Amino acid sequence: MPSTDHPGTQLRIGVLALQGDFAEHLAMLRANGVDAVEVRTLAQIDGCDGLVIPGGESTTIARLLIAFDMLEPLRERIRNGLPTWGTCAGAILLATDVPALDREPIGVMDMTVDRNAFGTQIQSFEADLDIAGMEGPPLRAIFIRAPVIRRVGKAVEVLATLADGRIVAARQGHLLATSFHPELTNDARMHGYFAEMCREQLDAEARAAS
Ligand code: GLN
Repeated sequence: MPSTDHPGTQLRIGVLALQGDFAEHLAMLRANGVDAVEVRTLAQIDGCDGLVIPGGESTTIARLLIAFDMLEPLRERIRNGLPTWGTCAGAILLATDVPALDREPIGVMDMTVDRNAFGTQIQSFEADLDIAGMEGPPLRAIFIRAPVIRRVGKAVEVLATLADGRIVAARQGHLLATSFHPELTNDARMHGYFAEMCREQLDAEARAAS
C-alpha cells in the first residue's frame, strides 16, 4: 500500500540476487505495491529504500560478497540505516555470531544463529506462527534447512517463536531476520511488514533532515 506520509512515492526495495531464491521475493514485494528490483552491485543497492537478503547458502553468499568486495561496504550501509531483512541464509548473514559459518558474516544484528538447526533437507517442515505486531491469522511458515536464533541481544525484539520456544523471527530497529521462507507461501504479510519498516526509516530520515 502506498505510504500516507509519502503520497505518490513508491518504495523501492532491492533483493540481493547473487544466489538463492531471490525471484520469489520480488513477486511478494510487488504484491505490496513495492517497486522490487534485483540488485547485484553497491550502486544498485544505493538506489533502494531497503534490502532483502534471500535464502540459499549462507556460505556461498558470504563468499560472493567477499569476492565482489561488497562485504564491508554493505555492512557500513546497513549500519548507517539501510533497512535490511534476511530470510534463512540471509538471517544467518545478518547475525554477529554464527559459530558454524566458515566466512565472516555481515554481522549487524546482535544475535547468535545456529545453521541447519533442524537437521537436513528432509527434516524441512511447516508451522503456523503468531508474529508480534502482525494482524490476522497465524502466518504459515516454511522451514528448509533452517537456522534458529539461539541468543538475542538487548536491542533485539523477538517477533516469533516455535511452540517449543525457539526463536525464528526477530527485529533490531531497521533490521529483520526470519528463519523461515515467507516468499514461498501466498501470504504477503511479512513482506508488507518489512515494507512498513522501510517507510518508518524514510520517515525517520526525513524528520532528522528537517
Ligand atoms: N542451510 C542454509 C545455510 O546454512 C540455509 C537454508 C536456506 O536458506 N533455506 O545457509
